Parts: sequence; C-alpha cells; structure tokens
Amino acid sequence: MTYIIAIDGPAGAGKSTVARLVAQRLGWRFLDTGALYRALSLAAVEQGVAAENGPALASLASGLDLRQDADGRTTIGTRDVSDAIRTERITSFASRSSAQPEVRAALLELQRSASKNADLVCEGRDMGSVVFPNATLKVFLDADPQVRSIRRAAELECKGVAMDIAAVRSGLQQRDTADATRSIAPLQRVQDQVAIDTTGLTIAQVVDHILELIAKRIREGSVRT
Ligand code: C5P
Repeated sequence: MTYIIAIDGPAGAGKSTVARLVAQRLGWRFLDTGALYRALSLAAVEQGVAAENGPALASLASGLDLRQDADGRTTIGTRDVSDAIRTERITSFASRSSAQPEVRAALLELQRSASKNADLVCEGRDMGSVVFPNATLKVFLDADPQVRSIRRAAELECKGVAMDIAAVRSGLQQRDTADATRSIAPLQRVQDQVAIDTTGLTIAQVVDHILELIAKRIREGSVRT
C-alpha cells in the first residue's frame, strides 16, 4: 500500500523537474514515464522498427530489460540511456509510437510496479486517468505555451542545442495536439485533478504548493492504496 502523486500535463510545463524535486523532498520514489516511452523508441530506432508498428514495438518491449531507478535514471540492460533518449529524433518518434495501443499496454505494468514497494511521485500524460486512477493526489501542470517554449529552449541550450523559440513552440504544439487527440490514453484533464498554472510561478513555488496539497490530503486521512 503506497501513496502516489500523479502529475500530468503538456510538454514543457515543468512536470519532470517538479516531480523529481517533490520526490526528493518527500524521500519518495520518482518515475518519469515519458523516459520509458523514449527508451522503447530508442531501441526501436536502433533496430529499425517503425513508430506505427504497434505489435512489433510491443514485442520489442517484452524482450527489453527496461528499468528506471528511484531517481529516474533509465537503463536498458546495463546501458544507461538517460541522455541518449533526449534527442529530437527520439522525441518525435516517442510522440508517434506512444499512440499505439500495444505500446501503452506493454509499458503499463512496468509503470504500475514502480508503486509496489515505495510511495511514488510520477509524471506523464495519463498518470491520473489510466495508470494510477486511485492516486492520493492528482495534479495537472500547465503553463502559457510561449513560457513553456522559452523554458524548453533554455533547457536545450544548457545541453548545447541551440534552437529558436518559434521552432521549439511549433514542436511542442505538434506533440501536445498529437497527445491530446489520440484515441488511447489522451492527455486530458480529469475531474479529481488539481490544476496548477505554472506560468508566473517559480519551480520552488510549484514544489511547495504540491507539498502542501499532499500534506493536507494525508492529514485529512487519505489512505495508502
Ligand atoms: O514527457 P516526455 O516529453 O518525455 O514524453 C515523451 C512522449 O512520450 C510524449 O510526447 C508523449 O507522446 C509520450 N508519453 C505518453 N504518456 C506518458 C508519458 C509520455 O504518451 N505517460
């Protein structure tokens, strides 16, 4: 029985940074589910499997020793792929492959197993709607598209990739539209989610807000599920 904070939202809303920090502050496990879709995509690109070939991707997933440690480092076997999965090519591939029902089914158990022996902070697109519908706290993080684009461009710049903000914005928009309009597990708001608009907030403010929300839930008697 564990507590779960499920964070969803569009690309560039700060989900990963915020979820990781919340997990650190609470001493809980962190799960970046986008990294799992990305790691499967990396293996598919390397093995020549198409992003639209759901059955082949699922079969590839079943043979991969795909794992993520409690801090979010993602490995395939003994290979740490945490950096290799961040390229533009993998970003675009993951956006397409994650729309395949077979892919989502193949990664579902791996995601759920992360909460078996540890309280968990997870982030993605369908955490509150599909993967952890009974989460202790569900959060939807969003921000103005221009602000998300500026943040993402700054992140890329730190990694040595220079991209102009208009190009980043168009990439984010394409991914958000694909994630929100796919027929399976679309990015959507669910009723019992707390929405946080991070546009004018610092990361620390968002983290503190989520810590207050979860402390309140637990005080009010939320039980581990
Ligand atoms: O969060 P991140 O940008 O790393 O996710 C990469 C892609 O994986 C997203 O664009 C989305 O299509 C997909 N994804 C998903 N469901 C999740 C997490 C990510 O479909 N729970």
